[in-house]
Amino acid sequence: MTEINDFILNNEAVIRLSFFLGIFAVMAVWEFIAPRRALTVSKVMRWANNLGLVFLNTFILRLLFPAAAVGMAAFSSEQGWGLLNYYDISPLVAVIISVVAMDFIIYLQHVMVHAIPALWRLHRVHHADLDFDVTTGARFHPIEIILSMLIKFATIILLGPPVVAVVIFEVILNATAMFNHSNVRLNLVVDKWLRLFLVTPDMHRVHHSVEDDETNSNFGFSLPWWDRLFGTYRDQPRGGHDNMIIGIHTYNDPKLVLWLHGMLWLPFVGRINSYAINRRSWNSEIDYNE
Ligand SMILES: [Zn+2]
Ligand SMILES: [Zn+2]
Repeated sequence: MTEINDFILNNEAVIRLSFFLGIFAVMAVWEFIAPRRALTVSKVMRWANNLGLVFLNTFILRLLFPAAAVGMAAFSSEQGWGLLNYYDISPLVAVIISVVAMDFIIYLQHVMVHAIPALWRLHRVHHADLDFDVTTGARFHPIEIILSMLIKFATIILLGPPVVAVVIFEVILNATAMFNHSNVRLNLVVDKWLRLFLVTPDMHRVHHSVEDDETNSNFGFSLPWWDRLFGTYRDQPRGGHDNMIIGIHTYNDPKLVLWLHGMLWLPFVGRINSYAINRRSWNSEIDYNE
């Protein structure tokens, strides 16, 4: 086990980058061959800006947290911190518990960034994307990325997951986020069965609707069970996938929602309390920019 841990700790960046590039390439080709919807803005513009943000976030994370989440898991286990380090559980069971528990925390975190107005401002950067494709899956404001990492550290300290579970979790989360944001056409029967175990693009697209009650649904990233269990599941968008509008109501200035510098500035635009999760019905009278 220590050899595997050493390998992971020494090669974490390469392992994650290889999966990222491999899955990104597969989804990009799939989007090209069988797109679900027509894009509203040029793909070159979208990709240049969204991927620009991804590179910036990767750089900031490496700078702030060079040992990353796997480093925290190794440190926690050396210290004997965390629930799973207290008990003598088989490694396989510990890995399964860890991956499922960390996915649940991500679900709760996602609900939280929608519920708290100041955090919604950060998360708006993800939702303000006017289209929904593989690059949307990694489009987050740097402050939200840092917040996510701190929540992950806290989870690791309390849970004490094996190092291998953390890298598996991160690869799965990265892969499923790219998959379920992809603008790909999936057979509807396949989608129906797949979404019993995995969040599908049609399931997550509902969450990117401009309509508040649809946005406040389907918070899961990998496992679809949390939404079903906690009452936030919504099967399909009211307007259908072809007609639904993606983004945030009234946020359509390309300088703010498409260009990289606008995305970085977006959290600081408008009044702080202009949004709350408890607004579950659509009201076109509300001016979100106030
Ligand atoms: Zn969201
Ligand atoms: Zn999303």
